[in-house]
Amino acid sequence: TSYVFTFGGSTRSDDPRSRDKTVVGGKGANLAEMAGIGLPVPPGFTITTEECVRYLAEGGEFSDVVKADVAAALGHIEQAVGKTFGDPADPLLVSVRSGARVSMPGMMDTVLNLGLNDVTVQGLAASSGDARFAWDSYRRFIQMYSDVVLGIDHHLFEDALEIAKEDNGFYADVEMQAEDWQKLVKEYEQIVADALGRPFPQDVHEQLWGAIRAVFDSWDSDRAKVYRRLNDIPGNWGTAVNVQAMVFGNMGDTSATGVAFTRDPATGEKAYYGEWLVNAQGEDVVAGIRTPQYLTKASRERAGAKPLSMEEAMPAAYAELAAVFELLERHYRDMQDIEFTVERGKLWMLQTRSGKRTAKAALKMAVDMVGEGLIDQKAAILRIDPMALDQLLHPTLDPEAVRDVLTKGLPASPGAASGAIVLDADTAEKRAERGDAVILVRVETSPEDIHGMHAARGVLTARGGMTSHAAVVARGMGRPCVSGASAVSIDMASRTLRIGTRELKEGDVVTLDGSTGEVMAGHVATIEPELVGDFGTLMVWADVHRRMKVRTNAETPADCRTARQFGAEGIGLCRTEHMFFDDKRIAAVRQMILAEDEGGRRAALAKLLPEQRADFHAIFEEMAGLPVTIRLLDPPLHEFLPHADAEFEELSEAIGIGVATLKRRADELHEFNPMLGHRGCRLGITFPEIYAMQARAIFEAACDVAAQGGTAPLPEVMIPLVATRKELAILKALVDREAEAVFAEKGRRVPYHVGTMIELPRAALMAGEIAEVGEFFSFGTNDLTQTTLGVSRDDAARFLGAYVEQGIFPRDPFVSLDIEGVGQLVELAAARGRATRPDIKLGICGEHGGDPASIAFCEKVGLDYVSASPFRVPIARLAAAQAAL
Ligand code: ADP
Ligand code: MG
Ligand code: MG
Repeated sequence: TSYVFTFGGSTRSDDPRSRDKTVVGGKGANLAEMAGIGLPVPPGFTITTEECVRYLAEGGEFSDVVKADVAAALGHIEQAVGKTFGDPADPLLVSVRSGARVSMPGMMDTVLNLGLNDVTVQGLAASSGDARFAWDSYRRFIQMYSDVVLGIDHHLFEDALEIAKEDNGFYADVEMQAEDWQKLVKEYEQIVADALGRPFPQDVHEQLWGAIRAVFDSWDSDRAKVYRRLNDIPGNWGTAVNVQAMVFGNMGDTSATGVAFTRDPATGEKAYYGEWLVNAQGEDVVAGIRTPQYLTKASRERAGAKPLSMEEAMPAAYAELAAVFELLERHYRDMQDIEFTVERGKLWMLQTRSGKRTAKAALKMAVDMVGEGLIDQKAAILRIDPMALDQLLHPTLDPEAVRDVLTKGLPASPGAASGAIVLDADTAEKRAERGDAVILVRVETSPEDIHGMHAARGVLTARGGMTSHAAVVARGMGRPCVSGASAVSIDMASRTLRIGTRELKEGDVVTLDGSTGEVMAGHVATIEPELVGDFGTLMVWADVHRRMKVRTNAETPADCRTARQFGAEGIGLCRTEHMFFDDKRIAAVRQMILAEDEGGRRAALAKLLPEQRADFHAIFEEMAGLPVTIRLLDPPLHEFLPHADAEFEELSEAIGIGVATLKRRADELHEFNPMLGHRGCRLGITFPEIYAMQARAIFEAACDVAAQGGTAPLPEVMIPLVATRKELAILKALVDREAEAVFAEKGRRVPYHVGTMIELPRAALMAGEIAEVGEFFSFGTNDLTQTTLGVSRDDAARFLGAYVEQGIFPRDPFVSLDIEGVGQLVELAAARGRATRPDIKLGICGEHGGDPASIAFCEKVGLDYVSASPFRVPIARLAAAQAAL
């Protein structure tokens, strides 16, 4: 197997590994692919991710084989370009680029113009006939190489450039002439010598291997690790290195560089979208050093901007580029994010990949592409990341609300967010940990800011375009972002900022609208989302392809309504205890708990019965005709008890029992380990009148709703924390008795079922026996995870982070089901339950019911439904469809 693959030029590898992302990384694979379909790609080679993994494991050494392969591959570039690396008269220059399997902002920055030194720069000046260009390239190279390979602070170079411009009375870089750059290069070399105690490396091979090492080493940088953790990227993938012949966008006014999307990444509109700069090199566009210009005439005109678009300024190169867009979209059947350079009128392709997009754009493109015949419905369903829908399921700014607009920047990532201004990433993280909503405001962002962007509700930058770091990362994270708001100026020393004429300080609240680019003072009202348009269309397709039903976890009529609008097909979990905490009822609940005997309890329960009945009545009306699983009381009773003396006194007055007696009863209820204590069905066994009251309330409400002439509800009474058949048998008999009594009184029957949660390992093991009694199972995977792992969810925060960090669990097992372990119990219980009762209904109601990976597992095991919180219902519908495809 080879560790190095070449691309471009006349020869190319036909080894499929040369186009395999896992081997050569995404960038390398797509460069090879583009070269293969005849697009103009500067020739180059890729050192594989496998070599990176090996290099890191073996302590940073290259084998002789790899060294020889690199030398041969360099020869391939030299032969294709007709120049020699290090040639003093006409040197080959290369870029060194990282490229993991997926695009990773935490990785090493690209080094351009590598191969220049004090001698070859003269050769470049002579061979190109452009001394200014040669020295501009050299100063860029020294700065980039020093920053990313040698670790010298880039501010030192930036400051020196600023001073040079000031001394000359220049405003922009383009005013610098050949001799100005040459002088600056001398200063740069001095900065390096001062920082390192040795000169800037003049040996071009030393330069090359230094850059290759830096790429590999950057895989284990802190930045990369943070990014991997946030994005669930395994640490053992490694990155590839791409070494590629330079093409020059900085050779005067017939040269340029740019980035483009084949469709609008924010809206999904089928229109080319991009930014470019004349006489510039790659990083200039993204780094926000100069404000980039519009790619197309239409977008320039829409924005009312003056500088000519590429379409107008370079019509021939633009036409060629537009043809490439069409070709690449047809080839990859997806929207592409493209990087290109024009060297003296000639177009070169430097990168393509599936473009990051907002959830809204993803939906529009998927639906449009089905219409265009580019992809089919299944591909459209599979293309949408269910979790990204979250962006669309949250409120947007109320168009009616009053807006105190401070300024308008670029609409870089949609959605609305309000929060307190913070001026650096660490502060953002700290304040977010305290539960504050914050907006991160920066001049521009860099990979060092990622943790702060993640912690913030939204991001505002003063510089940078729609393809700036801030914009790309924010879109990926689903954070609203306004970029390039040039009216914003930040004073870090006083931690204040000025927006236009307005003075603000850190901590002041602002609101961002990432869909319009508006920045507003204070908090602005929002409105709820709806499933319409492309979202609605895709959901209909998903519903056609999914097998599992999707229910919701809800206990209020408002939640029921939201969930139904989002397509819920029933309630999978209605927690009755939430209804007990109501201000009006808590006294009766406490009276019931603290009663000395059954008579006292019954008196208190009689007060609760009409309240519970009303709760269920409202829910049954909302969920007409759909199944509603109601869990009888589950938490330990002491959770309802008063704590403060004043509360005890109040209760004593209300129910006429002395404070001392009440306190003694409360003490008696204390438990050492309440999660494993007197809770769930154990309450029903010891205080049957509680469950009897709840069952009665359910059946009375069900009969009443049926009597109104509407569709009869389908109550499913669920007994929690069952471990044995006997527990369930006793309690099912109790529920059945109550049902018969109510049906007799009301003179009508409603269909109902009695079943159980499977949330203890014993219940899972004994599922065959339990199914003799239970008519349905609902996997309560929160408790099943706690009891199987022996990890208390409420105490796990202290160590779970370390566990995930060290790879003991791939993800938090309370968020994404531990399929290997807990999953076995689910699978086994489902099989044993079905063996006893073939038509047993099986569902899941833990947090996992809204997690796509867990949903895929539920499909595999053949559960009948998943149940998720109302806002996760559409996510679950899509994930269930993907799992079924
Ligand atoms: P990133 O992954 O951060 O986008 P890239 O490796 O794509 O980094 O490099 C960034 C930019 O550098 C490219 O978009 C391109 O403009 C420029 N660049 C990279 N390689 C070359 C090259 N061989 N010739 C000219 N420009 C290049
Ligand atoms: Mg970069
Ligand atoms: Mg790139």
